[in-house]
Amino acid sequence: MVFSKWVSLIFIVHLFGTMPTLSSSFLTAKELADIPVNFLSYAKRPELADWMVGIRRKIHENPELGYEEFETSQLIRNELDKMGIPYKYPVAVTGVVGYIGTGSPPFVAIRADMDALAMQESVEWEHKSKVPGKMHACGHDAHVTMLLGAAKILQEYRDNLQGTVVLLFQPAEEGGGGGAAKMIEAGVLENVVAIFGFHISHEVPVGSVASRPGLIRAGSGFFEAVISGKGGHAAIPQHTIDPVLAASNAIVSLQHLISREADPLDSQVVTVTTFNGGGAFNVIPDSVTIGGTLRAFSKETLMQLKQRIEEVITGQAAVHRCSASVDFPLDKPFYPPTVNNGDLHEHYLKVAGDMLGVHNLKVIKPLMGSEDFSLFTEIVPGYYFFLGMKNETREPLASNHSPYFTVNEDALPYGAALHASLVTRYLLELQPKFQLAEGKVRDEL
Ligand SMILES: [Zn+2]
Ligand SMILES: [Zn+2]
Repeated sequence: MVFSKWVSLIFIVHLFGTMPTLSSSFLTAKELADIPVNFLSYAKRPELADWMVGIRRKIHENPELGYEEFETSQLIRNELDKMGIPYKYPVAVTGVVGYIGTGSPPFVAIRADMDALAMQESVEWEHKSKVPGKMHACGHDAHVTMLLGAAKILQEYRDNLQGTVVLLFQPAEEGGGGGAAKMIEAGVLENVVAIFGFHISHEVPVGSVASRPGLIRAGSGFFEAVISGKGGHAAIPQHTIDPVLAASNAIVSLQHLISREADPLDSQVVTVTTFNGGGAFNVIPDSVTIGGTLRAFSKETLMQLKQRIEEVITGQAAVHRCSASVDFPLDKPFYPPTVNNGDLHEHYLKVAGDMLGVHNLKVIKPLMGSEDFSLFTEIVPGYYFFLGMKNETREPLASNHSPYFTVNEDALPYGAALHASLVTRYLLELQPKFQLAEGKVRDEL
């Protein structure tokens, strides 16, 4: 059994380019190091790289918002069908969960988000978004593509996987959509012992990756408040109760939560992004609505900020004889901070280092931007990093969420090969550390 596995491994590794010399029933460090190198050269072959470019452009032309990714989901399922990979659908409305390997534990997951943004693309090119007001401006079209690319590599290599790889195609990451929460509710993490995910980055060079152990992305929440007074003629303010002034003072006071109440060494953000009220220059409106976001690196701090935002807005409204109701919308749930597991960080350093060279592993500071991948990492050990796509010889790329955002498609083979390598090597090297409790076993295939 063991012998036949290694015979098969020799065959597959040969297929991928290098013949390892097996001195024992375990792979040597060199043979393990060859896996990511061979996966990358396989992913760079025109038949895989060009196929990924085609898939990415197709998704880019037809961007779909959170929980509306029906055609993207159909495309994913068509490709999985062609590869002969079994999957579950629908999961969290449009999500797809594929399985490659033995069908038995351990299960290790890789995840891609699928949704686009409600904005108009300003880039003029052949594969521009065909849907007015919608655009893949965060690169999730590339994320889906690279997970499909990884599926191709892993399916070729499936007889050598020492467990099962779970492919998570997740809807609704953007704007607090909560797609990860819905997937978790649907049970996608049952028996999963580790999860990996990444985001493409316009700031990191192609062929490099960036990450850090521990905290990597902040937790977040959103708020909306209605401040109500008494409208009337703008020239007779004494007969009104002005909610515009009350809201203005509330916004100024919210700034003091960070400058006067927060520990300067504990990074936090409160930003008011919307202010709506009134419709005429000479009328004081009855009410004003303000809204915004809060960010912090611990759940406790987030909850403290949440409480103080409510107190400051209602208190400032009262000072100005107004009333206020503060809402934390349920359709935009709080995301906890994203925390990278220490053992998985070491694993990532080894695998990505073998593929890209250690000099191409960048260390970054934690980011205030949040990501619902954090919900997965709350439940199982997880690892999140940034995949480079900057080409220093070309014009700088626009940042994500810009209408001028573009993807450097040269990054696609790197992402596919990294996904595939991280889980393959995990199953070979790390899985004994994360063994499931006895009896917690299911059969997926
Ligand atoms: Zn985004
Ligand atoms: Zn994104």
